[in-house]
Amino acid sequence: MNVLKTHDLDVLRISVLNSRIATNLKTMRSYRNVKAGFSGEGKVTKYLKEALLTPKITIYRNIILDNTQIDVIVVTPKLICILEVKNMVGEFYFDARTKQFFRIIDGNKEGMKNPELQLQRAVKTLQTKLHRKEIDMPVCGLIILASRAGIVIEYPTLFQAIPIDAMCDALEQLESSSHKLLTNKDLKKVDHIFKREVFEVHDEELLDRLGIERTEVIPGVRCIACSSVGMKRIYSTWVCGNCGCKDKEAHMATLQEYQLLFGREIKSQGVKWWLGIDDKYLVKRILIQVTEESFGNTRNRHYKLKFEPWLLDQFLASEMKKY
Ligand SMILES: [Zn+2]
Repeated sequence: MNVLKTHDLDVLRISVLNSRIATNLKTMRSYRNVKAGFSGEGKVTKYLKEALLTPKITIYRNIILDNTQIDVIVVTPKLICILEVKNMVGEFYFDARTKQFFRIIDGNKEGMKNPELQLQRAVKTLQTKLHRKEIDMPVCGLIILASRAGIVIEYPTLFQAIPIDAMCDALEQLESSSHKLLTNKDLKKVDHIFKREVFEVHDEELLDRLGIERTEVIPGVRCIACSSVGMKRIYSTWVCGNCGCKDKEAHMATLQEYQLLFGREIKSQGVKWWLGIDDKYLVKRILIQVTEESFGNTRNRHYKLKFEPWLLDQFLASEMKKY
């Protein structure tokens, strides 16, 4: 099975921000929601490994098609199915009359984006794209409840909403009732539709949306071993004041964090601030190591950082373990 693991930049971005500011309720809430979504998709991907579908199955995660966000798409020669994953607890109501979706949790009613309408939009968008490429395959959709503590009271009418344990059966059934077959050429075209979408490294509006000023973000090199920020440069290495860990390359991952929050361009002043160093020769050496190109004259030079999000894999893993 081929799992296309795209680095989920949303979850990284909000985790980086949340770990570098004083407690902020809005950010905390957003951090929890984004993480819950991410771990829900992760669960779905794990379960899909058990599904007895026609090889070869390809799973795409976090695709954005014409501004429509798609959580997971399962593609086999006999099936294209979009999964809208809800990893939430509570009682869910899909109101067919008002088209509203809400959940009741701890006795409180909480309105939310309607996953049924989101899925309908995603299915339509993808179907149009397939038609344009002359691919003859209906797009199916399922709403997957990834948390066992999420219960549907009022069911959706356009799509099935099923618990994650029933997902493989449902997909197998959809596939066995399919009368279409995609050729290898078709599958390549489908792949092209999803791979063409490019990710923005940084979300320009994130700080604004959460009401955070740049100056509130705490700079400093992060220790990969214990996640704390503020490693000190002592003789040509970074030393963690918290766990004592030494790491010559720690600034590499820390500069990935910078890009997620502020974009890929930086000036030497920015490097000094973000890494907490003052030695201009050190800044110069680091810039040579971490940038892919530079622009402007000597006085106003700015640099484009290399984007290597896998340097944050360990940080992401430790974030996902936290509640
Ligand atoms: Zn440490």
